[in-house]
Amino acid sequence: MLSLSDFEEARITGIKVNYYFVCKRKLWLFSRGLAFESSSEKVALGKLLHEIVYPTSKRKEVLINNLIRIDVVSRKAVRETKFSSKMEEADRWQVYYYLFYLEQLGIKREGEIAYPKEKRVERIKLTDEIRKKLIEILEDIERIVSLPKPPEAEKQSYCRACAYYDFCFSED
Ligand code: SF4
Repeated sequence: MLSLSDFEEARITGIKVNYYFVCKRKLWLFSRGLAFESSSEKVALGKLLHEIVYPTSKRKEVLINNLIRIDVVSRKAVRETKFSSKMEEADRWQVYYYLFYLEQLGIKREGEIAYPKEKRVERIKLTDEIRKKLIEILEDIERIVSLPKPPEAEKQSYCRACAYYDFCFSED
């Protein structure tokens, strides 16, 4: 079973958990530093969106162990702000991972996923079932990023919007 030091050693970030659900090839490419897509830009955009939509919110951004960047919005909750809910499942597991990571540090929180354009906030909590599934996911992420080659490209409806599109399908 994974311990906190395993997370840190594997450098599993929230974005990797998100990509696990979006595309295993994307996860592999990103993890190997083939970052055509700037995660720091994404973080900055998320921060900007949050500031525009919640200008009076008492949000505090916290970087934990130089690995997990979390918006703490209250004593009870952390929040992730997203542009759209197209990748809702990926968003949810990303936040479950933050909650789980915090829990390993002895900090209990609930999660909020804000979709301001849809005027919607989803609230989530960890359960034993989710913890168990999350450990399996983290172990599978480690397996995937250790593969000598990236998983094959499988075209999805959202591939065109992916920064790796040309890399994956340049012969199309
Ligand atoms: S273009 Fe499609 S297959 Fe390639 S990494 Fe992006 S999502 Fe995955």
